[in-house]
Amino acid sequence: IAALYVVPTPLGNLGDLTRRAEDVLRSVPWVACEDTRHSAPLLKQLGARAKTLPAHQHNEHEAAARIVDKLRAGEAVALVSDAGTPGISDPGARIVAAVRAAGCKVVPLPGACAATTALSAAGLADEHFLFHGFLPSKAGQRRQALAELAGHACALVFYEAPHRVLDTVADMAAVFGERTLVVARELTKLFENIDSLPLTVAVDWFQADPNRQRGEFVLIVSGAPPGDAGGEGERILRLLLDEGL
Ligand code: SAM
Repeated sequence: IAALYVVPTPLGNLGDLTRRAEDVLRSVPWVACEDTRHSAPLLKQLGARAKTLPAHQHNEHEAAARIVDKLRAGEAVALVSDAGTPGISDPGARIVAAVRAAGCKVVPLPGACAATTALSAAGLADEHFLFHGFLPSKAGQRRQALAELAGHACALVFYEAPHRVLDTVADMAAVFGERTLVVARELTKLFENIDSLPLTVAVDWFQADPNRQRGEFVLIVSGAPPGDAGGEGERILRLLLDEGL
């Protein structure tokens, strides 16, 4: 029986496509793509002759059924998202679950992922981390989500879009207080920047230079200091009550 290969693609630097990923994309007859138009240039550049099929968040059930049919017919399928690792703040989980439930094999390839790339250069002392990905876009829900994370004594890893980064960092400062923030921007790209700063000055830092709000972001906040979880909780509760949440 053929397998579903879960294939990470570069975050911005084409050199980050692994040799194994290249081999798989060149050899499979089908590539399931988050966005077929987005992935077409990469496949073309590799000289891959695979046919593409759409596998985005709005058709994951249908896509899963089609992929299972292909696998049962003995045809291997690769799964790619627009950038990085499928299933990490990207579609893929339902497809993987359906393929395994159908008794077919899933083969994950290691590769590019913004969260682990940022963590590798964050230099935080926390031994553990919690990957949260995207926060809710509505302010109230975002603050509540942050408040629920405030007691964790591990680094907190977030993805954020450029138009929301300032609001999100302001909420982080309000909810977490004094922590270290690592801003990993445009990883693997021309304007890559990795900065560590006290969360309390982060809003001013972002406002001091509009370029600092441009591009793609991973935000990492250091964990709650030992023994601080109680006081922090009370402060957050007050903040949420003030906000009428
Ligand atoms: N599946 C991807 C992965 O493995 O990292 C993540 C996909 S998610 C839809 C896109 C988010 O990942 C962006 O909004 C940003 O927060 C983060 N991201 C992707 N590429 C990045 C980069 N080059 N630098 C910093 N963050 C990046």
